Amino acid sequence: MPVIKLENLAKQYGSTRVIHDINLSMDENEFTVMVGPSGCGKSTTLRMIAGLESVTGGKIFMDDKEISQLEPKERDLAMVFQDYALYPHMNVARNMSFGLRLAKYPKNEISKRVNEIANTLGLTQFLTRKPSQLSGGQRQRVAMGRALVRDTSTLLMDEPLSNLDAKLRGQMRVELAMIRQKFSKNIIYVTHDQVEAMTLGDRIIVMQGGYIQQQGTPEELYKKPRNKFVAGFIGSPPMNFFNAELTTEQGKLTAVGNGFSLRLSGHQNRFDTLPDKGGITIGIRPSAFKPAADNSNHNIIELPVIVSEYVGSYVVLISEFDGNRVAIELDTNVPLHVGGLMKFTVDSNDVYLFNQNTNDAIY
Ligand code: ADP
Ligand code: MG
Repeated sequence: MPVIKLENLAKQYGSTRVIHDINLSMDENEFTVMVGPSGCGKSTTLRMIAGLESVTGGKIFMDDKEISQLEPKERDLAMVFQDYALYPHMNVARNMSFGLRLAKYPKNEISKRVNEIANTLGLTQFLTRKPSQLSGGQRQRVAMGRALVRDTSTLLMDEPLSNLDAKLRGQMRVELAMIRQKFSKNIIYVTHDQVEAMTLGDRIIVMQGGYIQQQGTPEELYKKPRNKFVAGFIGSPPMNFFNAELTTEQGKLTAVGNGFSLRLSGHQNRFDTLPDKGGITIGIRPSAFKPAADNSNHNIIELPVIVSEYVGSYVVLISEFDGNRVAIELDTNVPLHVGGLMKFTVDSNDVYLFNQNTNDAIY
């Protein structure tokens, strides 16, 4: 039985629809991540679940009970906001206990819970400090602590790490994963960062323009993106796209582009799902390129290498093709010709195909 269910959930501001009939359900103790570019409707959806934003269409259920019209405090959930929303004049302990005091919990129960959570989050020594006397990471923890002390079944988080610098964000991501193991909660986590989504989520909901583009496990989204948007959004550096024509060469299905010809033997048995011979978009992840011998002529794509970025355990080459950037990830031991042409080959199982009209993936 799903714990939280959204049924045709919609939101309209004036005459502008920003959320279009979203349907999703999450299971108990699932860590669900909603990810998508800025403005796609993540916060609006989360705020509707929290009851901070009215619903203009559809329903929200928790444990099979409709909660769409309930006050925020009547919903069994707590929220962590992007800007933390801490009270500047209250110390950490008072900030953390705010919700419990409001709900008139007994004093000893409040201090027991605050101490427990502060201990878990490493905040004990800061309990008497004001937010202004804390670092960004510590403030973030206080915001998290304030949500956790309320002991709700569900935790909503709206880009909780986006105000932290990259290094701290990486550390907090690990802490979040650990917190998650300690507390059994339903978590809905919103971010624009696909790396956060991939590393934290049991399930990821990819949104764009107020629509759900795809939902699935991180692996499903990475391996079987439903369309070009998801394919380009999940994975870093992003998937590269090329225009090509489908033809048959010596009986073999082949994608021929501007100066390349790639056999699609992995797709050979899917003739029926392919559009009639003609234009197609092919997608190749940066890590799918393999260096090809200089004298090889089959299954080759030759690309000009403009820049190389040495990352440490691998190298990213930046190329350009048909006016588009192309990223190629190689082992560090491959000889590079920066400023020249390099030949690459790609296993046909690593070539993604997209319908040029609908942008849907073809499998
Ligand atoms: P995200 O969190 O994914 O960046 P939001 O949910 O904040 O996106 O916003 C989704 C869309 O709704 C955006 O186009 C935004 O401009 C619009 N929007 C958000 N809040 C309001 C509002 N109060 N009035 C009108 N439009 C809004
Ligand atoms: Mg937002």
